[in-house]
Amino acid sequence: MTLLKRDTEHLFHTYKRLPLEIERGEGMYLYTRSGERYLDMFSGVAVNALGYGHPGLLRAIREQTERYIHVSNFYAQESQVQLAELLVKHSGLPRVFFANTGTETVEGAIKIARKWGSTREKAEIISMSNAFHGRTMGALSLMDRGSYRDGFGPFLGSCSVVEQNDATALRQAVTDTTAAVILEFVQGEGGIRPVSMQFTDSLRQLKERHGFLLIADEIQSGLGRTGKFLAFEHYSINPDLVLVAKPLGGGLPLGAILATEEVAETLQPGTHGTTFGGNPVACAAGNVVVQAITEGGLMDNARQTGAKFYEELSSLATTFPMLVKEVRGMGLMLGMELTRAADGIVTSMRDKHVLINATDRTVLRFLPPLIVGEDHIQETVSALHDSLREAEGNAAT
Ligand code: PLP
Repeated sequence: MTLLKRDTEHLFHTYKRLPLEIERGEGMYLYTRSGERYLDMFSGVAVNALGYGHPGLLRAIREQTERYIHVSNFYAQESQVQLAELLVKHSGLPRVFFANTGTETVEGAIKIARKWGSTREKAEIISMSNAFHGRTMGALSLMDRGSYRDGFGPFLGSCSVVEQNDATALRQAVTDTTAAVILEFVQGEGGIRPVSMQFTDSLRQLKERHGFLLIADEIQSGLGRTGKFLAFEHYSINPDLVLVAKPLGGGLPLGAILATEEVAETLQPGTHGTTFGGNPVACAAGNVVVQAITEGGLMDNARQTGAKFYEELSSLATTFPMLVKEVRGMGLMLGMELTRAADGIVTSMRDKHVLINATDRTVLRFLPPLIVGEDHIQETVSALHDSLREAEGNAAT
């Protein structure tokens, strides 16, 4: 029986599995059990920033595993403290709380916002339409898309959603009882949609007037992907809390809440915690990841190779105006919105051994490992050109 068949026998049917049985990964490529090679331009949904089999990452994991795998948060741990020092240095936010996943950092941020607001008569949390913050009940309470929420309510109270980039709607929604506003500076699952400069200007003015917390969900956009360490740095606004996860643990589960001193003081011993959050092996991996991004040139690569990739995608948009509506994004977080469902192109690209993904139905999403080179961009653009050409031909017949 094939792996895929065995998978459907006993696992929940929560994922649409791709028809590939992966044996191993190396650099930018995944290899199937039958020995076929695929260029991975999706990196396990923005996780594998260093690609597959990075020697320094493997060494750090091995060495920490031999020292100890888990001791619990009753103890101060070297790899945790080192990673916190790096995150503080590069984010400018002085305090770190480690969790395991992205959605857990969102839950933590909701709790912090509510506790911070409890002494200030503020409870309301405002989020953006079309956002994605995770799959837990708190995260779902901040989202408006039925495909994620339907049937799972009732959700948390005192949460409301405004249209992203609608400054008038934001002004109407924010009051003195607003505890926090949460947003992705570049929406990921929502279709690679950067927030507008005008919107963040209004947000900054409202924050000064009403004194709420600003939470940046940088789980997909953070840690070098957009060409800056955190995507909010492209804007002139400073969040009080920043949430990171995905690439942080080098493929091991790890998330972090970064916060100002004032915000961090909200939590005292015993008010929040986790058994596994900040696992020492994941943190050892995290040290290698963050160093490679900041000191190993990967952030510069995201900027430079990302700009080249954007240029090439824009050129395809000019070649196929009937199929391509828009190219969006920053650095190596890019999307191409089509005039039709994007699934067919994703499948056609897979047939050409290039892995990408579709989001928000019509958007092709590109989230390659940050080690991607110009040759990989050419390989992708060439396959995409052929897939779009075929789609154009099919539409004409
Ligand atoms: N927030 C954003 C912006 C995300 O992209 C994701 C995952 O895709 C999450 C939160 C949830 O993260 P996790 O799947 O690690 O819980």
